[in-house]
Amino acid sequence: MSDNSVPPGPGPTRAAGLRVTVDLNLCQAYAQCCYAAPDHFVLKGHEALHYDPAPSADARADIERARIACPVQAISVEDAGAPRR
Ligand code: SF4
Repeated sequence: MSDNSVPPGPGPTRAAGLRVTVDLNLCQAYAQCCYAAPDHFVLKGHEALHYDPAPSADARADIERARIACPVQAISVEDAGAPRR
């Protein structure tokens, strides 16, 4: 009797990190993201938003909180391995 079963592989893998983009044409510097995830979003001056474009997957909860908090939906979050839109 042959065994046609597929040997166990590594299985689905979690992405190594995230890809964060902020549409700076939408961003109105409300700073809600900075309150939600201060380690990843910082406003410098009144309008210059600095952010981490490639945080680790461990930051997902903080980044998602920032994305949801943004009143103009300027923040996009994807797995780093996902194809670019
Ligand atoms: S919450 Fe949105 S609008 Fe406000 S600074 Fe962050 S990205 Fe910009």
